[in-house]
Amino acid sequence: MAERTKKTVRQIVLVALAFVAIKCVVEVYHEFNPTTSLLFADVGQGRCILVVAPNGKTLLVDAGTQIYGQEGREKETAQRILPLFARLGVRRLDVILVTHPDKDHYNLVPILTKEFPASLFWSPIGENSEIEWQSVKAAMTNSRTETVVVQLGQRLWLDARNGVSFEVLAPPAGIVPKVSEWSPNDASTVLKLRFGEFSVLFAGDVGEAGQRWLLNSGVDLRATILDVPHHGSKHNLETFLRAVRPKIAVISAGRQNPFGHPAPSTVEALERLGAIVWVTGEQGSLLIRTDGRNFNLTGL
Ligand SMILES: [Zn+2]
Repeated sequence: MAERTKKTVRQIVLVALAFVAIKCVVEVYHEFNPTTSLLFADVGQGRCILVVAPNGKTLLVDAGTQIYGQEGREKETAQRILPLFARLGVRRLDVILVTHPDKDHYNLVPILTKEFPASLFWSPIGENSEIEWQSVKAAMTNSRTETVVVQLGQRLWLDARNGVSFEVLAPPAGIVPKVSEWSPNDASTVLKLRFGEFSVLFAGDVGEAGQRWLLNSGVDLRATILDVPHHGSKHNLETFLRAVRPKIAVISAGRQNPFGHPAPSTVEALERLGAIVWVTGEQGSLLIRTDGRNFNLTGL
């Protein structure tokens, strides 16, 4: 073999070995530094949050956007968030949770389930006769996605080995939305994610009645991150926000939405508690990565 060919072969072997070594280092790093990622996607006026556990399993909390008389906006919004899902390496949606059946929380679900297979649909207790909601349920049945209705106290381990769990904190058992003080918003599923010392409270659109019930339930509401209820509306109790005392408060609200979300009083109350407030419609999508203790934020 000519000297030059030998040299080239040696170089190729060295480059290949370097790749293998880097891959090993990355794998060992992930093994010893399990990381959970949370994407709070900017979907305009609505909500879409994706959790990716260290084992790669995914859980979607809501996926919807409000339409102000412009049909087709869902497709446009989905086109914007699909590259973000790809960036996180999402290949399937293991669990889809819809906090309550309002379009701004579910109308992207049929588009996303066309792109990604889903295993479990964690359905809200509320019902809705709207054709769009019925079609979400039909899509789940047709794709043989198992449906489980949410129940107080249920716990789901997305990654048992690395200790990533979700617990249902509300609504209480036996309530019927639209009856007495339980509006459909107050009947939203409220969920707590735990991963080491890190926690997230996903609070749907619960208003004052739901927040009061949570406060009286005696459950530990403290959380590192608060997915602020009802797009940061004025129906947020300062006592509730104080009980959560988040380091980061994420508000999913569209830029210049007609509802005036988020309410200045809610943003000010969160800031008084020392929270960093992130509004998706103003600052864009937010990616949070955590090892269960420390976390970092990246705007996307
Ligand atoms: Zn909403």
